[in-house]
Amino acid sequence: MRRSSIIAQLGCVDDTFHALGPSSPDVVPMLRGTDARYRRLADGLLAAGYVMIVVSDHGQHDVPNPPPGGKRGTHGTDSDQDCLVPCTWTRS
Ligand SMILES: [Zn+2]
Repeated sequence: MRRSSIIAQLGCVDDTFHALGPSSPDVVPMLRGTDARYRRLADGLLAAGYVMIVVSDHGQHDVPNPPPGGKRGTHGTDSDQDCLVPCTWTRS
């Protein structure tokens, strides 16, 4: 069997963290939905013989005292919150 690579990004995590702040409890429903989408993706890919590597390109931190309507989360600093990200390697 010839295998290739698939790269996918679920951008809703970054977008929601920017809007609500990564520490907000309001991000939990989005995270649960993202977990469910990853599970469906993993089930299909692992059954087809793929190895799945899940990694984030960066972390994010809360914006202290954001202006009304402003972003409550951001990234781009050299802080551990922005730079240290999990990596998971899964195979069936
Ligand atoms: Zn971002």
